[in-house]
Amino acid sequence: MKRAVYPGTFDPVTNGHLEIIERAARIFDELIVAVTDSSGKSPFFTLDERYRFLVECTEKMGRVKVMKFSGLLVSFCQSVGASVIVRGLREPNDFLREYQMALMNRLQSDGEIETVFLAASTSYHFVSSSLIREVAQLGGRIDKLVPEVVSKAFQERLRG
Ligand code: ADP
Repeated sequence: MKRAVYPGTFDPVTNGHLEIIERAARIFDELIVAVTDSSGKSPFFTLDERYRFLVECTEKMGRVKVMKFSGLLVSFCQSVGASVIVRGLREPNDFLREYQMALMNRLQSDGEIETVFLAASTSYHFVSSSLIREVAQLGGRIDKLVPEVVSKAFQERLRG
């Protein structure tokens, strides 16, 4: 049984993330989407909201489970019996940081946990959660780039 973890802040989940989730779920027996509390980043949506959006968007996908976590990613992977970390790569800027994290996580796990990168699809490679938050807060259109539950949450949040 090959279990993989796809970790992230998902503040909020975008169609780019969902595409990676669908593709990774076809490769592994089980994919755990792990939402980090990321308290240092002061997220726009709470951990519970980010978790709920992901649960709603993935509940019809087989093999996908959403969990919250905090602390060391490698410890989380070991606690759920996962030997692979999935990350998405959008553009060259992502690479250096992701490469450093992959090597660090391999070291921390004594070589037991490998990181697998999936290339973002051309439709979403320009989409990031931070850009979505920026555009949404300025009143721009994000509906083709995020799931409906997320665009509704922005509308409610910005109205109230
Ligand atoms: P983090 O704070 O861990 O970077 P993110 O939620 O920003 O969390 O991203 C989680 C993962 O999803 C990262 O590997 C990131 O590169 C990837 N990712 C983000 N946006 C996209 C996208 N549009 N297409 C493919 N992968 C993406």
